[in-house]
Amino acid sequence: MSSVVIHGRTFKTKITSSEILKAIGEVADQINVDLKGKKPLFLAVLNGSFMFAADLMKKVNIECEISFVKLASYEGTSSTGTVKQLIGLNEDIKGRTVVIVEDIVDTGVTIEHVWEQLKALGVSEIKIATLLFKPAAYTKTVPIEYAAIVIPNDFIVGYGLDYKGLGRNLEDIYVLDYENDGK
Ligand code: 5GP
Ligand code: MG
Repeated sequence: MSSVVIHGRTFKTKITSSEILKAIGEVADQINVDLKGKKPLFLAVLNGSFMFAADLMKKVNIECEISFVKLASYEGTSSTGTVKQLIGLNEDIKGRTVVIVEDIVDTGVTIEHVWEQLKALGVSEIKIATLLFKPAAYTKTVPIEYAAIVIPNDFIVGYGLDYKGLGRNLEDIYVLDYENDGK
């Protein structure tokens, strides 16, 4: 096991690169069976999903497209709180099968926003592919069809995920080392 220090906090290895790739291969196998002939559009939500999207797409062998979107947060009306607006979508997605590609589903607030916006655009079928899923934190009902790795409710970093902007380039996934963190 190795550890890294990011912004003065200590993180230790939790999931190795080879475990990550194995789990992604299993999700790709499932997608190759389920979505064959549907010509799905994979929509990767930046920034966190960039590594997952790349490794997943290398193993998806059915006819498909991939595009990238971002979420812009702004304060909505008092009733809706913070709204996460999907930006960068140029494709006509009406009537299509769309696979949202996410880095992590935690409470599910983010994924629910994306889901609702895609529905409003007339998508016929939405699937969610996430690298990581924290079921203990999940508060929504949107089905998480393809979760590569299920984790407990810990804060993790690496393989696309950041801690205050740093750590996205790490090949393995790390968890905050509560015992040795000293904070
Ligand atoms: P949700 O809306 O599901 O609560 O959270 C989704 C977003 O929160 C993710 O896209 C990610 O940006 C951030 N997030 C949730 N859990 C973690 C975590 O353990 N580590 C990191 N780096 N980001 C997280
Ligand atoms: Mg994300």
